[in-house]
Amino acid sequence: MLGWKIPTLEENTNTMRLILFSAVMLLIGCQGPMTKQQNSEPEKAFGIVIHGGAGTILRKNMTPEMDKAYREILQTAVATGHAILAAGGTSTEAVEKTIHVMENSPLFNAGKGAVLNAEGEVELDASFMDGAQLDAGAIAGARTIKNPISAAIRVMNDSPHVMLSGAGADQFAAQQGLAQEEADYFLTERRKKALERVQAEEAAANQTSAALLSSAFLQQQRIGTVGCVALDKMGNLAAGTSTGGMTNKKWNRIGDAPIIGAGTYANNASCGISATGWGEYFIRSVVAHDIAALVAYKGLSIQEAAHEVIHGKVAKLGGDGGVVGLDNQGNVAMEMNTPGMYRAHMDAQGKLTVKIYRDE
Ligand code: ASP
Repeated sequence: MLGWKIPTLEENTNTMRLILFSAVMLLIGCQGPMTKQQNSEPEKAFGIVIHGGAGTILRKNMTPEMDKAYREILQTAVATGHAILAAGGTSTEAVEKTIHVMENSPLFNAGKGAVLNAEGEVELDASFMDGAQLDAGAIAGARTIKNPISAAIRVMNDSPHVMLSGAGADQFAAQQGLAQEEADYFLTERRKKALERVQAEEAAANQTSAALLSSAFLQQQRIGTVGCVALDKMGNLAAGTSTGGMTNKKWNRIGDAPIIGAGTYANNASCGISATGWGEYFIRSVVAHDIAALVAYKGLSIQEAAHEVIHGKVAKLGGDGGVVGLDNQGNVAMEMNTPGMYRAHMDAQGKLTVKIYRDE
């Protein structure tokens, strides 16, 4: 009559289908943003680990003040790099700025406070490696560069070379506009006294330098090399190491710290490593690359690989020291065969670990 009729069963079913379809669409629509969130990539792991040298670091030789001072500076350094990474900065920047903190502190054997060579001068070594490009830079035997790690990064970025040495390294850094310092800036009483004592021992024992190298006291006098490995939110690993080497070193001796593959290595495919220890043994063991190779080729975890190289290969040769490292998932290794290694780690959640002695 009025153009309205009782719907047929078929029409009724169609209406029901339409209502059901609309309801489903509405539900999907409502859940849209949530579904998107659930599917979004979880935040990438990032992290940072540092060392401030390994060796005969014993509680009985450490005053509570010294213990506190080391822990504080380690915390400041690792937090510096962590803040850069948390804000989305690169692992290169995190490693550079973190190492600056330790190079600028007289507590470590790097930059200010580095150990002295036989002539009573500093000779600074540093290296850096970028795990994304397998690009690297290093300097050895520099005497005027305030922050050797920055010079290593500049060699990588702004020169056609990987390693520069001696006066040439200083000249390159000056041309790059990096801060230069007079000899006095680097010298500390502690290192002058250590040199005097080592040279007195050398004279008294009438030993050759090679024999004296294994003296316990001399071994003490190289502790304090600094290093850092960082993994950024983009998944890029970087590693750097900086040192003054060994007290009373002669003949422009160069250790492992500036040697890519020995003291420093980084590869996004496996891990980043920074080493510290008796350099001659670390060079012969190609420590940093060996650990990365065990991770890449043998599928070992970074802890297993670091353990095998430090407690197996290096120790068997008679060398001592340690490494810190991160793999490309942010797993950390802090391994040593010495009584202590100044070290600290911060993960993506900001969990902080600061340790000095091996048994902590
Ligand atoms: N590896 C450094 C060197 O031999 C010293 C150290 O790390 O203790 O020069």
